[in-house]
Amino acid sequence: MLKGKTAIVTGSTSGIGLGIAKALAAQGANIVLNGFGDVDGPKAEIAALGAQVGYHGADMSKPAEIEAMVQYATTTFGGVDILVNNAGIQHVARVENFPVEKWDAIIAINMSSAFHATRLALPGMQAKNWGRIINVASVHGLVGSAEKSAYVAAKHGVVGLTKVTALENATSGVTCNAICPGWVLTPLVQKQVDAKAAAQGISNTDATKQLLGEKEPSMQFTTPEELGALAVFFCSPAGDNVRGVAWNMDGGWTAQ
Ligand code: NAD
Repeated sequence: MLKGKTAIVTGSTSGIGLGIAKALAAQGANIVLNGFGDVDGPKAEIAALGAQVGYHGADMSKPAEIEAMVQYATTTFGGVDILVNNAGIQHVARVENFPVEKWDAIIAINMSSAFHATRLALPGMQAKNWGRIINVASVHGLVGSAEKSAYVAAKHGVVGLTKVTALENATSGVTCNAICPGWVLTPLVQKQVDAKAAAQGISNTDATKQLLGEKEPSMQFTTPEELGALAVFFCSPAGDNVRGVAWNMDGGWTAQ
């Protein structure tokens, strides 16, 4: 379905980004991976699906590097048809104790990066009259949780950016939507499970149950594969008139 299209997925060397990249690759899209850590493993996983795969190591807190990544996609594959703004980090502390440099980093990586990548990829999409921008927000783009001020502010901002981008392109073939996952067991959440286990002197299994029990009625993690399937839906013809939604996949978290 996506043969001949090119997707940049930011923060795709791990977790949700890698899951979405694999789902788009399975539909035939060329993939530009981005993110830190091991690159060869994720590249091989995408190539095994028969897709063309490139990599750009842009630090998503740096606008000039984001510009270089969009340029790389254009020179390597001829443009950007699908942009998945997914890179993100977390830090947990009460507002009065929140380190200022962590606030700045979360706002830059989790929110401003989506603005920069979007403004740079949009002209190419508008010229082709087809494009898909998918912002990986969070349930924290819809509701708050204590000790996550920067993350919740950034994700609410991403949901706002999604609506405005969708509206500005509403009469065109360019759509913009947000995905709002609940808990997904990736390294980002594993750190929170480990911290809970250590703080209370409980096992990892008990900490996981507690984490899910506090927020997610299904008592199940959402998976990167499920989120990948939702991204594929947004890219399908059935998604042509889905514009500006913040679609939660959260085991009932925000239904409460
Ligand atoms: P993860 O830690 O597994 O992956 C994060 C990715 O972002 C990695 O590839 C990492 O290298 C990359 N990254 C981090 N800083 C970067 C930077 N400055 N520049 C470029 N890349 C950078 O985390 P994840 O859980 O897969 O999170 C992915 C997205 O999903 C994030 O935006 C996160 O907020 C969101 N999310 C996660 C959950 C969850 O429960 N895991 C829930 C809702 C939303």
